[in-house]
This record gives sequence, C-alpha cells and structure tokens, in this order.
Amino acid sequence: EASAKAAAANVDSGAPTIFDKIIAKEIPSTIVYEDEKVLAFRDINPQAPVHVLVIPKFRDGLTQLGKAEARHEEILGHLLYASKIVAEKEGILDGFRVVINSGPTACQSVYHLHLHVLGGRQMKWPPG
Ligand code: ADP
Repeated sequence: EASAKAAAANVDSGAPTIFDKIIAKEIPSTIVYEDEKVLAFRDINPQAPVHVLVIPKFRDGLTQLGKAEARHEEILGHLLYASKIVAEKEGILDGFRVVINSGPTACQSVYHLHLHVLGGRQMKWPPG
C-alpha cells in the first residue's frame, strides 16, 4: 500500500525531524501533556478518536527504539508512565493501546522516538 511504502522508504539518518520544530513550538501542535522531559501532542492524522504522540524532548540518539541503550532506561520508563497520564487525561484508562514503530520494516516515518497512545474505540488485534 502506497503510504506504507512511503513510510518504509524513510531512513534513520539521525537528521533533525519535524518533532524538533514541534518541541521548539516553531510549528503548531495540540499539546495534551508536557513536563521537563517529555511532550505529548495530538497526531495530525489520527487513527482513533484519541491518538496522541509522546516524545522525549531530548532525543539523545533515540531516533528509534531499536537504538536504545542502557542510559535511556530512565527516559523510556518516563515515556511509558507519561502515556498512562495521557490516557487518564483523555478518559480512556478503561482501554487504550501504546504502540512504538521501530525502523522501516515497522513503517516508522519520523526518526525521533515516539509512543502512539490510541483509544476511544474498540481496538482490534492483530495490528497490520
Ligand atoms: P507512521 O507515519 O507510519 O505512522 P510513525 O510511527 O513514525 O510512522 O508515526 C509518525 C506519526 O507522526 C504519524 O502518525 C503522523 O501522523 C505523525 N505526524 C507527522 N507529522 C506530524 C505533525 N506535524 N503533528 C502531529 N503529528 C504528526
């Protein structure tokens, strides 16, 4: 499918991404939650009634989960906990999904680690 191929064509070059501009507030986003370490904002192309992206403010080499190292353990835990706070704020604690696409085969398109928090509808399994 065309969009999946386009996403898979993106490569992890380590270059800055559009998320840097969102963090710097140089381009607009709808922020749902923010603290000193993470930013959570609405996905521009939502795949569910609630679709929020949770990202580290300092990428520190975390272009994708597959590049994680031991030093990232704390921020990885913080991102997961922030996802729960987002789910709570969005009123979907009864059922939500957290997704990380890592690498081109998983159709990652933006190489700044991000957790997708999805909910507000009945989710299906398995994902595609
Ligand atoms: P995919 O694009 O295949 O979903 P990713 O897991 O890399 O792969 O997800 C990147 C997400 O970033 C997409 O859901 C996309 O809609 C979202 N996105 C891209 N640009 C923006 C933006 N400016 N504001 C909010 N979300 C964005």
